[in-house]
Amino acid sequence: MIIQISNLTDGDYHYTFDKKVEEIGLSDPFFSNIRVESQLQKSQRQIILSSKIKVNVNFECDRCGIEYKQELTKEYKIVYLFSSEINDEDQVDLKYISFETDTINLAPEVRDYAQLAIPMKKLCKEDCNGLCLKCGKNLNEGRCNCKTKEIDQRWLPLEKLRNKVN
Ligand SMILES: [Zn+2]
Ligand SMILES: [Zn+2]
Repeated sequence: MIIQISNLTDGDYHYTFDKKVEEIGLSDPFFSNIRVESQLQKSQRQIILSSKIKVNVNFECDRCGIEYKQELTKEYKIVYLFSSEINDEDQVDLKYISFETDTINLAPEVRDYAQLAIPMKKLCKEDCNGLCLKCGKNLNEGRCNCKTKEIDQRWLPLEKLRNKVN
């Protein structure tokens, strides 16, 4: 995922990449290909690179444990500032490059942002019903025959006491 910038005149450019996830160092839960669409705006002082990542993942639902596939998308923008001085103060979305820089390699950022696209909570569907705690049946496939134990609110203090004694 390399963009040649050495002979780029000022203006807008469009790039697309389609790589195997392994090629940029991604593995499980990522699989198959990762696709990146990038918009590059070059001017005398800077390059603005806006990219959109699309990648397939294999997840296990946090609630029901079923495996499911999903396509994650993530957008990010990085400004590359041309600078004649060496500057170590790179920020997440701002990088300094020298006027002699030939290429920009997207792979490290694409890898990072793909990882960031992984949601904290993985659900096969928004309203996944999960598994029955008693019999383990997947409640998305229908109800089970277990009776959920409901405790009469009036007996709750007693119930608590009983649990303590035990
Ligand atoms: Zn689920
Ligand atoms: Zn059950």
